[in-house]
Amino acid sequence: AHRIVTIDGPAGAGKTSVSRRAAGLLGLAYLDTGAMFRALALRLGPEGHELPEAELDARLGAMVFSLAGSGADTTLLVDGAPLPDAARTEQVGAMASNLAVLPVVRRRLRLAQQALGRAADLLAEGRDMGTVVFPEAGRKFFLDASPEVRAARRVGQLAALGRPADYAEILRAIRRRDDQDRNRAASPLVPAADALVIDTSLLTEDAVVARIVEAAGG
Ligand code: C5P
Repeated sequence: AHRIVTIDGPAGAGKTSVSRRAAGLLGLAYLDTGAMFRALALRLGPEGHELPEAELDARLGAMVFSLAGSGADTTLLVDGAPLPDAARTEQVGAMASNLAVLPVVRRRLRLAQQALGRAADLLAEGRDMGTVVFPEAGRKFFLDASPEVRAARRVGQLAALGRPADYAEILRAIRRRDDQDRNRAASPLVPAADALVIDTSLLTEDAVVARIVEAAGG
């Protein structure tokens, strides 16, 4: 079986950059599963979550997910193409969260994620990697941070993408998305019983990466 390490947690806990770097140091391909939900959101538009279930199932069944490169340089490809920067906005995150409550969407993406895990050693990052998608993973992490810290980080990331954003507005959006991710019936956002929980509020990114690499047995 392939080696799987999982990192779950809420929006803005610092998962994406930490996961990418840890994957490089651990010699694993990096799978950003949030990007799969975002790719679907971009493709379907703001009303996508209102489409009939059969149509969603067909649209998802036709999407091909693959990984190119390795380690910290792994790129997720959807139908052969990387995601545009526009996928990173908070609007697309909210659309992804609306789609992520739907069982048909979770089922299709879970199957795609598990297929990628059968093809390579993975560091899989998302909301339900340790609980639902890869319950057998060798090492599981759950990164958390206060909503205020997460909102401030998000504002910084968006600024770096040339998309200045309002802190209060981002904080509201993060709280809304948290509520929806934590309280949905299908795969709610909770730490796996055997996950190592790391509160990143007061830690530098370097410190979080170091703890993960040490605990995952670099
Ligand atoms: O992590 P990211 O912010 O890119 O994820 C976007 C949205 O996709 C999340 O708010 C969540 O609703 C959904 N998601 C999920 N399960 C995953 C990854 C993301 O439900 N494994």
